[in-house]
Amino acid sequence: MRRGVGVSALVLTFMAIGTLATPVAAQNRIKVVATFSVVGDLVQNIGGDRIDLATLVGPDGDTERYEPTPTDVRALVQSEIIFENGLGSEPWLDRLYRASGARAPRIRVSEALDLIHEGDEIDPHVWHDVANAIVMAGTIRNALVGIDPRNADVYSANHNAYVTRLQALDAKVTDQIATLPRERRRLVTSHDTFGYFARRYDFDIVGVGLASFFTDAQPSAQQINRLVQDIRATGVATVFVENVSDPRIMQRVANEAGVLVAPQLFTDALGGRNSPATTYIDMMTYNVNTIVTSLAR
Ligand SMILES: [Zn+2]
Repeated sequence: MRRGVGVSALVLTFMAIGTLATPVAAQNRIKVVATFSVVGDLVQNIGGDRIDLATLVGPDGDTERYEPTPTDVRALVQSEIIFENGLGSEPWLDRLYRASGARAPRIRVSEALDLIHEGDEIDPHVWHDVANAIVMAGTIRNALVGIDPRNADVYSANHNAYVTRLQALDAKVTDQIATLPRERRRLVTSHDTFGYFARRYDFDIVGVGLASFFTDAQPSAQQINRLVQDIRATGVATVFVENVSDPRIMQRVANEAGVLVAPQLFTDALGGRNSPATTYIDMMTYNVNTIVTSLAR
């Protein structure tokens, strides 16, 4: 009797799966790891239902200060391919990879990009330029095709559809920023995350609270004073806080400079389920809206 119930439940489940478009049994999907939410969303869009994706640092998580967990070790060991941003975004990954004994190839999605160097540091925040995301999508497609050539057509179709959406996003972002007079395109943020955005969409970075590419920096009182002076000297009226940084430093800067704090931007991570930034495209749309609206006032 119990056995009979079990079989019919199994059959029902099978029928339910059968009603989905192009079903792919879970055991046929390739196991993929992405290091953090922004990379994960790009990978999911290209991999679609052919991949089983584990993203190690989730929404609102700060990959630059992340502490790996035993679950991450398991995901790395089981994975067939690993996507990372590189350039210092995942300072914990080399050690975790070695310690786990994982064998999967590691793909740096930033590898084909024109990078911003400052002294001996490289700015890792490549995704804030949509043109970079388009190149990254191509790198991801090539890597998935390389590891799973039987599904090459699916990855190429997913890639083409996604790039069409990214091109539309880039055009929308460009049009919207064009409405903001050049002299108002000045950013003050928690950490130095908008270099590629500024280069592509013609903004100036007036200063950053943490005075660093990385969120683990601690600003000195002197650095904060200098930022307050720069804000006053340039006439910037609004500064920005980020979902991956403690907002208190920027609130202090804003108080001292007598300027406003804009609604939080999503910078090094997507937002959680009820946020306006659950995907890369939504994150860019929301950020540009918030930046343009806040700086137009
Ligand atoms: Zn960062």
